[in-house]
Amino acid sequence: MDLMNLAPGNSPQARSGVTFFRAKDELRAALAEARDAGRSIGLVPTMGSLHGGHLSLLRAARAECDVVVMSLFVNPAQFGPGEDLDRYPRDEDRDARLAAEAGVTFVYAPPVEEVYPEGFSTRVEVEGLTEVFCGDPARRGPGHFRGVATVVAKLFNTVGPDIAYFGQKDAQQVAAIRRMARDLDFPVRIEALPTVREPDGLAMSSRNACLGPEDRKRAVALSRALRAAERGARADSLGAGIEAARHELEAAGIEPEYLEARDAEDLAPVAELNGRPVLVAVAARVGGARLIDNVLIRP
Ligand code: AMP
Repeated sequence: MDLMNLAPGNSPQARSGVTFFRAKDELRAALAEARDAGRSIGLVPTMGSLHGGHLSLLRAARAECDVVVMSLFVNPAQFGPGEDLDRYPRDEDRDARLAAEAGVTFVYAPPVEEVYPEGFSTRVEVEGLTEVFCGDPARRGPGHFRGVATVVAKLFNTVGPDIAYFGQKDAQQVAAIRRMARDLDFPVRIEALPTVREPDGLAMSSRNACLGPEDRKRAVALSRALRAAERGARADSLGAGIEAARHELEAAGIEPEYLEARDAEDLAPVAELNGRPVLVAVAARVGGARLIDNVLIRP
């Protein structure tokens, strides 16, 4: 059966050992039963095309929660015009199999109309920390994080998780979601897990599939640059670290969209290591892919 054609309202489908839901009401009903039975619920939001980064979140959720919900939704609201929404890799069969292997209980894979029905007009905006880094109007812009915060708020309302899991790879997203959960009183614990990397250091990403062989080799410069930034910052100064990182990128012929150090929590600019966690983040286009990565320098 082609599950992409399964309309909302159709019964949930067992698939590779997990139950697939298209309709939020049915998911809610299944979760209400679990909650009434005293079972804890973990949520892992994803856009699918699963890799080791997603799997580490799923395994952490499996270890801590009785019921693990993975959402699988390529959220159009977080893609700007001209971004890669249409080219974003999708493989639901493979994702279902990997989710089952990782111990997921329920997959929530709604069609776009289930999330954004006609007349949908509410947006969640986390001000301030979504206007820097990727949210800078000259880059993806704050609309990207408006799309992320809106869909995550909806997922929190639909699923009602005790714990929600996110990857530190998207550090700005983690900061925005923590702030949103606090500001809007979502009774959920936010867990951020370390970035999972390929053996050569490249941060795993669904977008790595868009890299040709030469660009795949060059892309490793991002993680190399961030290691140089941390080394330089600890040994000398934050400025020296950023300079060393810039050299690494230049040597690979990569012009960063940004390479900046900011406070890891409120994303305010920082000039030096200051006893609080500092985030050094980079974004760059490498061939056909826009890649991001970061390092958290703990005091
Ligand atoms: P995505 O499907 O790209 O929206 O990612 C879903 C979740 O997986 C987000 O919380 C990401 O931060 C997280 N994630 C993506 N890549 C990695 C990675 N390499 N390591 C850890 N978490 C990741």
